[in-house]
Amino acid sequence: MTPEQQENEQLVLDSVDKFLKTEVRPHAHRLESADEYPAEIVEKMKELGLFGCIIDPEYGGIGLSTSTYAKIVERMAAVWMSVSGIINSHLIMAAAVQRSGTEAQKRRYLPKFATGELRGGVGLTEPDAGTDLQAIRTVAVRDGDHYIVNGAKTWITNSMYGNTIVLLVKTDPHAQPRHKGMSLFIAEKGPGFKVVRKLEKLGYRGIDTCELVFENYRIPADRLVGGIEGKGLQQVLSGLELGRINVAARGVGVARAALQEAVAYAQTRKTFGKPICEHQAIQLKLGEMATRVEASRLLLESAAKAYDRGERCDMEAGMAKYFATESAMENALECMRIHGAYGYSKEYNVERYFRDAPLLLIGEGTNEMQRIIIAKQLIQRNPA
Ligand SMILES: Cc1cc2nc3c(=O)[nH]c(=O)nc-3n(C[C@H](O)[C@H](O)[C@H](O)COP(=O)(O)OP(=O)(O)OC[C@H]3O[C@@H](n4cnc5c(N)ncnc54)[C@H](O)[C@@H]3O)c2cc1C
Repeated sequence: MTPEQQENEQLVLDSVDKFLKTEVRPHAHRLESADEYPAEIVEKMKELGLFGCIIDPEYGGIGLSTSTYAKIVERMAAVWMSVSGIINSHLIMAAAVQRSGTEAQKRRYLPKFATGELRGGVGLTEPDAGTDLQAIRTVAVRDGDHYIVNGAKTWITNSMYGNTIVLLVKTDPHAQPRHKGMSLFIAEKGPGFKVVRKLEKLGYRGIDTCELVFENYRIPADRLVGGIEGKGLQQVLSGLELGRINVAARGVGVARAALQEAVAYAQTRKTFGKPICEHQAIQLKLGEMATRVEASRLLLESAAKAYDRGERCDMEAGMAKYFATESAMENALECMRIHGAYGYSKEYNVERYFRDAPLLLIGEGTNEMQRIIIAKQLIQRNPA
């Protein structure tokens, strides 16, 4: 990074820190407890340009690097992970259009995604298909200059308060191999696009994650991403590296927040006449927690830099995602233990980290799959 780029990045990060301190931190606990959508915070995020932070300036965005974006996500997740989710899924949608869309689709959608006028996420998962996306059953059938979509999606984030998703469907359900019959559409809400219910979740509250049903939903044919059928799975998979980097960044944020709360509490809580941070059992925990945060951040930085250089980085992004999210889970639990009964109280943030962290183990490819991807890449890169 040049000194000028460094200065620009610092300006962006300072304004994000200020926003989080004044607009998010004071309200996070109340909104999360009530599972209330942070509508006012979203308006401020629009003003800051966060909905377009990695969209190319040519299409109305700010065009930040993935490395800077990862730092923003870490900061947001350290204060309230749900707020980062509002831009993360949205930007995965935007990145799919930026990467694979036709020029007309980019001109039509990216400027509106950048301002947040159109916002949303990604519609992949179905009741019977998550990891195995080729098993999806939602079908789009061509009808003149439209497609007619029927099927169901579930666990779709930003789909109640958002208005647009990229939607993975089968345009040829009988194709072999199955992925050749899969296509991706830019789907705006309209007749036949139904939000059936908002799901009740363990954590990641405040942000809307819903079940969707498509009943004869008519979508103009020019919303087919890239204008070609049969490329949908490929278009989704090529966004996974960015998705995993953003989940890793959330992991670093949650792991760091848990560490910071633990370090502060351990110095004030006294047992047997001394602060608990002077007991070796607590020091061992703090030492491990701090090491996890540093290691996670370094893996994240390495993956984000490789992505910015345009290199293939599925192994690096997988390692960062796996390690940082397991670290978030472990640090959340250790933070809870260090807080004793207070860690179990709804009045403190600690129990929220413990409820938010497990999502990170599942989203953007489960951590079981990450280890398999890492191993496969390892073998491929090191032939005997
Ligand atoms: C809060 C939340 C928000 C979400 N938001 C979205 C969203 O916005 N859009 C969206 O499309 N989806 C979303 N999801 C869904 C998420 O992407 C899926 O849950 C995830 O892909 C896993 O799929 P699944 O739940 O069907 O698990 P399954 O695929 O059924 O997996 C179950 C278990 O089997 C393991 N497993 C599966 N296959 C293999 C294999 N080959 N080898 C080894 N182990 C395997 C998995 O690791 C897991 O442990 C969200 C989920 C949650 C919880």
